[in-house]
Amino acid sequence: MENLWNDTEAGKQQGILAERVYSSRLLGANPNLVLHGGGNTSVKGVSKNIFGEDMETLFVKGSGSDLATIEAKDFVAVRLDAMLKLSRLEKLSDIDMARELKLASLDPNAPAPSVEAILHALIPHRFVDHTHADAIVTVTNTADGEARIREIYGDEVIVLPYVMPGFDLAKLCAEVFPRQATSRTIGMVLMNHGIFSFGDTAKQSYDRMIELVGRAEDYLNRNAALLPATEIAPTANWLALPELRKKVSAAAGFPLLLRSNTNSATLAFARHPLAASITQRGPATPDHVIRTKRLPMFGRDVDAYAQAYKKYFEKNVQAAKTSLTMLDPAPRVIIDPEFGLVSAGRSARDTQIVEDIYLHTQGIILRGEKLGGYQALGEAPLFSMEYWDLEQAKLKKAGAPKAFAGEVALVTGAASGIGKACVQSFLNRGAAVVAVDINPAVETSFSNREDYLGITADLTSLQDIRRVIEQTLRRYGGLDMLVLNAGIFPGGKKIAALSDDEWRKVMAVNLDSNLAIMRETHPLLKAAPRYGRVVVNGSKNVPAPGPGAVAYSASKAALTQVARVAALEWGADAIRINLVHPNAVFDTGIWTPEVLQQRATHYGMSIDDYKRNNVLHEEVTSKDVAELIAEMCGTLFAKITGAQVPIDGGNERVI
Ligand code: ZN
Repeated sequence: MENLWNDTEAGKQQGILAERVYSSRLLGANPNLVLHGGGNTSVKGVSKNIFGEDMETLFVKGSGSDLATIEAKDFVAVRLDAMLKLSRLEKLSDIDMARELKLASLDPNAPAPSVEAILHALIPHRFVDHTHADAIVTVTNTADGEARIREIYGDEVIVLPYVMPGFDLAKLCAEVFPRQATSRTIGMVLMNHGIFSFGDTAKQSYDRMIELVGRAEDYLNRNAALLPATEIAPTANWLALPELRKKVSAAAGFPLLLRSNTNSATLAFARHPLAASITQRGPATPDHVIRTKRLPMFGRDVDAYAQAYKKYFEKNVQAAKTSLTMLDPAPRVIIDPEFGLVSAGRSARDTQIVEDIYLHTQGIILRGEKLGGYQALGEAPLFSMEYWDLEQAKLKKAGAPKAFAGEVALVTGAASGIGKACVQSFLNRGAAVVAVDINPAVETSFSNREDYLGITADLTSLQDIRRVIEQTLRRYGGLDMLVLNAGIFPGGKKIAALSDDEWRKVMAVNLDSNLAIMRETHPLLKAAPRYGRVVVNGSKNVPAPGPGAVAYSASKAALTQVARVAALEWGADAIRINLVHPNAVFDTGIWTPEVLQQRATHYGMSIDDYKRNNVLHEEVTSKDVAELIAEMCGTLFAKITGAQVPIDGGNERVI
């Protein structure tokens, strides 16, 4: 395991908290040590209170931060004496513990301290590092895991059996640590959970983590080496994915995105001869249960999965003798020989996190198998984690999801103008958005976010349309909302001067391609969990045509009829199709200041009057149109189809 410590960088850190941040980030930089918010770190020091008195302080990672990106403000300062006093209590519920931790904080606005704060306080070293390293959970998730850990580490680490993080684990550590720690002790392994290292300096604690995990990795390389996966080309029928998504969403009771990963390692795992068995033995660490549920679904029988989940819930809730509300019974991980690893989530970010976790889990399971058989914790401790009151409280606090959470919108002509504004309006409402444009700028207009997929495509090509659909399905699993916005408005030309080629080009882009997109996406919209919605961007030219734009006006009029017929035909599938007819939207690419000035002068108006040349004397912006389009996909328009809504500030020629 690579040691990333750099003396020059470390030397720049001023004070123990800065050093703590530096080495925490080194841990966070290695996904085999720390994945998406897993793990935590602390340092003990002194802070001054308002009276100028010194206070022994534990700076511990606050909940909600990630070691990879952690900053000084993400560490919570808590009173060390309060932590130690709490550890001497006989009993403390985790809800009470969380409250006491918050009370011991020196800043009322700081995040909640990690639930492992008391444990950090108990370890009598200044720096404490904790990870859920893959190598450690691999070795401990086997039948003779404890013996193997002792073989690897001898008396240099203390070994604790699995106990749920929180007060009980801290209590156990308080008993065992002073009894077993010697001058040779440099770490502590928690079975089926992870590892702690500690030291007097940030470097010593970090070095020990790398050294200890490295030893477990070497052990695995000697005893359970994995061969690299051979190349497997995916052959899935992606059009079957929306149906699966519909069933998963129905089981959940709300729409979920599905993200598919078909890399060779994933397909090999899904096609492993023992896949049906090894996928059903439980997660690598209970920490993952919150994201992934206890078990993945192997294959596509969602009903059977949901039934099994209900049984598991009832059995364990009876055994625990408490009253709990069942979480939704839908899977979050699906292992399928065709679709590979499919992760489900209410946001694209969630699906990405679940995928990352399971990509690691696959490797852990396969190596565990080589080490005599992968074996996870039993149901009861995993159930306790899934239904941990602290997690339930977090869910409650999170509040209602956004209007389009778990749904997918596809917007055409999305690189600029109304299309780009639509992307923002749908993202704001929680949808994952596929943005398509012939302009490659679309690929980077909203970069670095999982809920945005920009695709360059020429939608007059059927091949391109099918490529867009496949990419949409692989990334998000389906399509709920379609915004047909792409269109061209060629320079004014009277009928007498219009060539056939110009006419056909406008028709191909504004009419033919939209018909093809509708036809090709129909099965996807039909399978949308909350039924498909389509909004077509028409034009004021439909009800009020102007001279010199015959191809444009005719194409938009024909498109309007296409949408109206679709509203009739697709009503039986509960797909709604509505139209907007915007007019004079000037904040788009074609309206440069020069063109605006020209037109205003032509009509003898100021630019401002020209922009507001409508009944209400209001300027209509791209954002206005985009917000209307997004709302037309929402509940406000739930019972409306085939409607044509002008958005033009009122047009005398139409009213
Ligand atoms: Zn942990």
